[in-house]
Amino acid sequence: MQERAFDDDKPHEECGVFGVWNCADAAAVTALGLHALQHRGQEATGIVSYDGARFHSHKALGLVGETFSDARIIGQLKGSRAIGHNRYATTGDTVLRNVQPLYADFEFGGFAVAHNGNLTNATSLHRALVRRGCLFQSTMDSEVFIHLIAISLYSTVVDRLIDALKQVIGAYSLIALSDEALLGVRDPLGVRPLILGRLTHADGSPGWVLASETCALDIVGAEFVRDVDPGEIVVIDNRGVHSIKPFTKEPSRFCVFEYIYFARPDSVVEGMPVYEARKRIGAELARESHIDADVIVPVPDSGVPAAMGYATESGIPFELGIIRNHYVGRTFIEPTDSIRHLGVKLKHSANKPMLAGKRVILVDDSIVRGTTSRKIVEMVRAAGAAEVHMRISSPPTTHSCFYGIDTPERGKLLAARHSVDEMARLIGADSLAFVSLDGLYRALGKSNRDAAKPHYCDACFTGEYPIALPDMMDNSDRQLSLLTEMR
Ligand code: AMP
Repeated sequence: MQERAFDDDKPHEECGVFGVWNCADAAAVTALGLHALQHRGQEATGIVSYDGARFHSHKALGLVGETFSDARIIGQLKGSRAIGHNRYATTGDTVLRNVQPLYADFEFGGFAVAHNGNLTNATSLHRALVRRGCLFQSTMDSEVFIHLIAISLYSTVVDRLIDALKQVIGAYSLIALSDEALLGVRDPLGVRPLILGRLTHADGSPGWVLASETCALDIVGAEFVRDVDPGEIVVIDNRGVHSIKPFTKEPSRFCVFEYIYFARPDSVVEGMPVYEARKRIGAELARESHIDADVIVPVPDSGVPAAMGYATESGIPFELGIIRNHYVGRTFIEPTDSIRHLGVKLKHSANKPMLAGKRVILVDDSIVRGTTSRKIVEMVRAAGAAEVHMRISSPPTTHSCFYGIDTPERGKLLAARHSVDEMARLIGADSLAFVSLDGLYRALGKSNRDAAKPHYCDACFTGEYPIALPDMMDNSDRQLSLLTEMR
């Protein structure tokens, strides 16, 4: 297996995190939570539990169900507190030592951490830490948290964590477990999601849950309490839930792509149901780029809610003209173009009676490299469609993400190199339209229009990166060329 270099220019993780405090079956509950968050990471999974005396850990490559359906493994993960992590499949490869949660024994006790996001000064921190004698065990940016905590001169876990957080730059939602507490942290701009939930046990005592998305609360029967605030550290211990806000408050910049694609449609993110948001974006798309057609067909699954919104708004019938095979992972999992190409065919097939002789509007959430759209348009034409119009419920993806969404480098983004007309030609569609940035923000009800009060990170559509990218400013030729490319 080929291994990703630590200072690779691409984001390494886009993940799901889950943690539980005071629950009899903490590891089993964590496995369920991770199962609900499987869409956030399918490459590897891990759980660390604590039984009041010892930490226990199990990590493996593969899906949650494959790893944690074995009762013996869950049985070994003893204790009433646990955290877990799903790692996203990126184009690089994974080895077990890169699977989270990361665990270390410190002078103050054990400490496990699970991270969703991407640090933008990880390379420089890594270099400085290695110079100080830190021995890295993995190639993950998340490991810098462990070393920064280890060398901190503060005495308590929370103070050491704050000390570490003040040195890192980037997007992070962290869940950590120490001997004394379950901790949840969101970066100062709140780019990635993190929520707090509550379990009520039969005796009335509370249990607490931290998770990437609300869909993980539903599966374990926890109630939603609130989003963890940007820049907040939530400390859950035997005295209850406390909040620490060590950073100066800034306008939050939640990742708008979570609404478009990444979050599960049954999650509620920052007060807005994702399903509702996607339908509203689809309706905006219909208003902005209507064209006469016989049928609206979603590219399943991610295009479904937007296509429903498009169909309702346009009055054109909605049909499942493409059927998805659910036993194949996301196309992005496959590392090479040729396999990806094969993957698309494995994943989708044409429902011919819904397409033959019809003017079809296909709705998908995004075009990244263009592989999916090209194959889908070709498939729909081969099924006999009279016209194929592609409608996309995001603005063109013109820039790479450095904050935890796995996107290819800019040169591979179709919209970075081609106009919309050229893209239509390249994917073989009769017409192509994307929702505008204004349309997207109309649908979400909040926007970035007031520069003094932005709400979202939309760097992948605008190239405006709200968090500094120090590693990109590094002197290496490759990083300099990346920076030039970004501008
Ligand atoms: P592409 O085939 O490269 O144009 O990718 C676009 C397809 O991948 C769309 O159907 C999206 O639903 C999906 N997609 C978009 N962004 C991502 C991502 N970061 N990870 C995995 N899949 C994605």
